[in-house]
Amino acid sequence: MQATVYKSTGSWYQVKTETGLFASVRLAGKFKIDGLSTSNPVAVGDWVTVAGIDHVDTAIITEIHKRKNHVVRVSPQRKKQHHIIAANLDQSVLIATYKEPKTSTGFIDRFLITCEAYHIPAVLVFNKTDLLTAADHEALEQCLERYRAIGYRSFGISVHEKKGIDVLLDILHDKTTLLSGHSGVGKSTLINTLFPDFALRTGAVSAWSGKGLHTTTFAEMFDLPEGGAVIDTPGIRELGLVDIAREELSHYFPEMRDRMNDCQFNNCMHINEPGCSIKKAMARDDDSISIERYQSYLNMLDSIDPVSY
Ligand code: GDP
Ligand code: ZN
Repeated sequence: MQATVYKSTGSWYQVKTETGLFASVRLAGKFKIDGLSTSNPVAVGDWVTVAGIDHVDTAIITEIHKRKNHVVRVSPQRKKQHHIIAANLDQSVLIATYKEPKTSTGFIDRFLITCEAYHIPAVLVFNKTDLLTAADHEALEQCLERYRAIGYRSFGISVHEKKGIDVLLDILHDKTTLLSGHSGVGKSTLINTLFPDFALRTGAVSAWSGKGLHTTTFAEMFDLPEGGAVIDTPGIRELGLVDIAREELSHYFPEMRDRMNDCQFNNCMHINEPGCSIKKAMARDDDSISIERYQSYLNMLDSIDPVSY
């Protein structure tokens, strides 16, 4: 029977079958040695085949279907191993805040670049707009405009004032969405608003998975009442940015990707090469390449180890 993985604790998986039933299953032993470069062979969002679903003790995943896409974090135990956070995403929503706490542009840009690299459409949502002064609102609007100009849906919401939630719900409708964000941005509050029976459900799931231990570090999928699903990734600060070579990085900045064919050298890194179209665009100061984004590019470039590729 076909099923989708809703939660994984490492040894047990909660799946929802095509008939809409939730069940706890284990993985057939042979897969355990299969994941060479990943520390977990099955992730939330995976499409799988399960057998023996009628028998709680023996139900197993017998097949893992090809993934449409996936996101990883680097496994804390082994640097070279990747831990798959979630698979088969339609999109990813980053919850950020302009203040209390301020989400850094560096963090936002790393998130967006990671999504580009994984071919997952990204949406940028700023929560807590109720805290903003008139001047803050103006500054946030400029920031949102910067991201809209390069193609990202970006808008503000206030979970407390229930503002913008309808817009967000509309985006989530009928899609599988990865919800990300630094702690403190209001992600739990938002999830409680989107899923009124969430508190009840987490309680149940914690008990089932052995309470406490890792209950806050496992990704979990929740169905939206109107169709679609959201994958929450509690405890995961940031998606892993892997397998991007320094030469490749600018491909994941849409505003750079659009222009780099005009650079004099086709291996241009857009730093200080002659005839660089990116630097020319910046010199024109027409906002086509923002200083903030370019700075993020340089910072990310610095963080990529040149010897590993
Ligand atoms: P998480 O770490 O992202 O899950 O954040 P929480 O949901 O725990 O929220 C962190 C704090 O932000 C809590 O004190 C919430 O009450 C508060 N918060 C959440 N949404 C809003 C909002 O729309 N406006 C304001 N002012 N505070 C909010
Ligand atoms: Zn260039």
